[in-house]
This record gives sequence, structure tokens and C-alpha cells, in this order.
Amino acid sequence: MPSQVAGISERQQLIIQHLEEANQELSGQDLHARLRASNSPMGLATVYRHLRQLQQRGQIRCRHLPSGEALFAPLGRDEHHITCVDCGTTAVLKRCPVHHVDLETEDSQGFALLFHTLEFFGLCEQCQSRQRD
Ligand SMILES: [Zn+2]
Ligand SMILES: [Zn+2]
Repeated sequence: MPSQVAGISERQQLIIQHLEEANQELSGQDLHARLRASNSPMGLATVYRHLRQLQQRGQIRCRHLPSGEALFAPLGRDEHHITCVDCGTTAVLKRCPVHHVDLETEDSQGFALLFHTLEFFGLCEQCQSRQRD
């Protein structure tokens, strides 16, 4: 269970809880559907407003798909993807190759570091063999 964080509302705590329980990243639409299926529905605009506030406070992480869709995950989940440039298939990397990399104090320029994003692109096996034919 997530620990109670000072300064965030009960509804925001609930959103974090749903992100923690999901084993993959969730979009605002996904969260909206999950909250509706549970006994605490929230309007879609409200979900997005809370997500934006949580993101601005550094309580959740966010990445954008090439389509522009934003996906959210708990701050502590260090997970990355490799995506096929042809068919768009995405796979989760088994480990983060830069998990132990830290910025030097000089490079972080006074920022309190929260998370990083890292994305790999390639051709999946199916597309490699299809392109060979
Ligand atoms: Zn492919
Ligand atoms: Zn990482």
C-alpha cells in the first residue's frame, strides 16, 4: 500500500493507489474506467485535473506515447519500453539499464531529482523477417 503523503487529497491518494495496483501504466481514460468500476467514480475532467496536480507535485510519473497519449505510473516504478518503429509493438524491458546512474550535483543544477524516462526503438523480429522478404 502507498504511504500517506502530506498535502494531497483523499481522491489523489485513491488515484495513486490505483496506479500502484495496476501492473502497467494507465492513461487518464483507464483510471476513469477503473474508478467507475470501483465504488468511487470520478468525472474524467476531475481525473485529469488530479493527475496534473499529482504530476506537478512530483508524486507520479508520466510519459507520452508518439500518439500524444499520456500514460501514468507510480513515481517509484523504474520501468522502460522498447518499441518497434514499424508495427508499434511495445515490450517492457526486464531491467533499467541506468537504474544506478545518478546526476552529478553540478549537472542537476539545484533540481530535486524525481525520475527519468528512457525509451528504445527498434525493429521487432516479425518486422525484421517481413522486411527481408
Ligand atoms: Zn514490428
Ligand atoms: Zn530507469
